[in-house]
Amino acid sequence: MTVRNRLSLQFTLISGIILSGIFVVIYFLSARFMKYYFYNLLKERAYITAQVFLERDELAVRKFMDIQQKYLESIPGETLNIYDENNQPVFLEESKYNWPPSLVNMVRAKGEYRFTFKDKPGLGIYYKDNQGNFVVIAVARNKYGKAQLNNLAWILFTLFILGLLIIFFSSRWYARKALQPIKDVNRQVKDIRANNLHLRVARGKNQDEMDELARNFNDLLERLEIAFARQQSFVNNASHELRTPLTTIIGEIEVSLQKERNPQEYVQTLRSVLDESEKLHRISNGLLMLAQTDWWDLPGNMQFLRLDELLTELKENRTKEETLHLTIAPINHPEKVYTLFGNRELLKLAIENIIKNGFKYSHNQPVNVELIYKNEQLLLTVSDQGIGIPEKDLENIFMPLFRGENARTYKGYGIGLPLSEKIIQFHKGKILVKSIVEKGTHFTIIFPISL
Ligand code: ADP
Repeated sequence: MTVRNRLSLQFTLISGIILSGIFVVIYFLSARFMKYYFYNLLKERAYITAQVFLERDELAVRKFMDIQQKYLESIPGETLNIYDENNQPVFLEESKYNWPPSLVNMVRAKGEYRFTFKDKPGLGIYYKDNQGNFVVIAVARNKYGKAQLNNLAWILFTLFILGLLIIFFSSRWYARKALQPIKDVNRQVKDIRANNLHLRVARGKNQDEMDELARNFNDLLERLEIAFARQQSFVNNASHELRTPLTTIIGEIEVSLQKERNPQEYVQTLRSVLDESEKLHRISNGLLMLAQTDWWDLPGNMQFLRLDELLTELKENRTKEETLHLTIAPINHPEKVYTLFGNRELLKLAIENIIKNGFKYSHNQPVNVELIYKNEQLLLTVSDQGIGIPEKDLENIFMPLFRGENARTYKGYGIGLPLSEKIIQFHKGKILVKSIVEKGTHFTIIFPISL
């Protein structure tokens, strides 16, 4: 069942329950009122009868005529009886019944008594008069009241059915209108495929939940598009990086097999094949390491380590061509502030990758490393004076196997930075980069610390 139909049915059901409740209350209140009204009528009739027949001689002529006029408008099936103190009937009008003394006594005892006889409402009053005290009993069929009630029941029933139909169709119309934006989004989403991820869902006119849904969906598409583009670019980079050494290996072997070679030439070919195979080996190892980062058993090898000491160690490991200027901001309690909880080997690898790039892409010009503590964060910066990174490459350098446009002539595989980024992220840190082509590159690694 569609949401639209379900909503309309549920709404109709709820409205039906409320409507029937209201109509039942209306019906019973009307029935009560009619009953009350009819008893009042009977009472009036009983008094008139008493006045006409017991005080006829004492009434002014005008009044008597007035009463008689009223009296003539009798009620269908009406019976009026008057009894004296001895329970003897003194007046039986169209008498069909002679009431038992118990009823007459009851009226006398109560002053006014209501009862139902053969489905007809009846009322007795105790009427005190100078000629004696009498009991007047009036019974009549509430024909008009019943007809009116029946009529009311039919009107309410028809209104109920009509109301339900109107509610059902209007709620269907309303549900369709309310769900239209979802339908629109649905239709647009159907058209979005992997090859047209640039498409976006149209936003609503109002700033409501539907607009939020469309906005979130568009954000999701944006992220998917970026992820797709990255994936695509990774496949391109991977195939390039893997194909180049393979092509070289195949070419070398084919050339050597073309004719008989001397041992020196074979050695040269084998060396070249070995070089390229090592390259392939390193790339596949790097990729494997990157792919396995999710399974690193980090907690098992975590320890408290001093970042300043780790940097000093990295400085000491430099070759004689590499000059590293290390600045560690002097602070109180470095043993507390510069201590991180992490995996020493991995952190060393991550920072070494970045420092090594600094030397590689600057032909071994000095690299500056600085460690400072600011706003409950450790900021580690690595700056070089190398070739820099073109702006369009900046967002891709952390992608596996990506190599910058101006870096192709330098040895490398595009594994170092993605690996460093993963390691830093594992330590809840982040890495930022700023660069100016031909001027140099500035990496900032930020580690949060809680003292
Ligand atoms: P590799 O250096 O082996 O190519 P990396 O993952 O370490 O791989 O770096 C990816 C790319 O980022 C490099 O190819 C290069 O274009 C760019 N890059 C990284 N560090 C620097 C740097 N210090 N100076 C200029 N370019 C850099």
